[in-house]
Amino acid sequence: MIITPRPKTFFPLSIFIYIKGHIITIIHFLRNLIFRKQPVAKIPYPEIRRQYSENFRGRHWLRRRQDGSVACVACFMCSTNCPAQCIYIKASENLNLYQEKYPLVFEIDLLRCVFCGYCVDACPCNVIYMTRDDELATFDRASSIITLKELLEFPERVKDKPLGWKPFDGDLPEWEKIKRFKY
Ligand code: SF4
Ligand code: SF4
Repeated sequence: MIITPRPKTFFPLSIFIYIKGHIITIIHFLRNLIFRKQPVAKIPYPEIRRQYSENFRGRHWLRRRQDGSVACVACFMCSTNCPAQCIYIKASENLNLYQEKYPLVFEIDLLRCVFCGYCVDACPCNVIYMTRDDELATFDRASSIITLKELLEFPERVKDKPLGWKPFDGDLPEWEKIKRFKY
C-alpha cells in the first residue's frame, strides 16, 4: 500500500480550525457545567471500587509446579503471539529430564502491554494467567517492567479475589488454589 501525504493546510486556515475547535470545546464545557440536569456518573475511588467482569485482564501471574518450580517451559509461544511484543524471555537448559528448558529471564513491560490476553490463550501449559490487579501505576518507567520473581508472586492486593482472564478450561488444580499464596 502506498501512503501519499496529505497536502499541507493553508496556514491562516489551520489557525481558524484550531480556534474553532477550542470554541466548540468551551461551549460544550459550559453547557455541561450550567445546564446539565442529570448528575455525572462517578465512583469515589479508592473508597468504592468498580466491579469488573470475572474475566478482567489485569497484571499477569505465572503458575508454579507442585514442587515450587516455575511451570513455564520457555517455549516462547506467549512472546511470539504478543501483539505488543512486550514479553522478553531468556531460556536456559533445565537439568530436569522431563523439562527441556526453563525461563532464566521472563519480563513483561506493562507500559507496552495492551492487556489483550493472547499470551494466556497461547500458552500450551496453562502457566500464564491474568489476575484482577488493576493498580499498576508506577513512579518511573523501569518499575513498569515486571520480572520473573514478581510474576511468580500472586499480587497481594487481589489475593482474596478469583483469577481474571485464564485459559479456556478455567480451573486451577486444587493444590494450586491452596498454594498460590504460599510462595
Ligand atoms: S496481554 Fe497481550 S499485550 Fe499483554 S503481554 Fe499478553 S499478549 Fe502481550
Ligand atoms: S507460552 Fe507458557 S510455557 Fe511458553 S514461554 Fe510463555 S508462559 Fe512459558
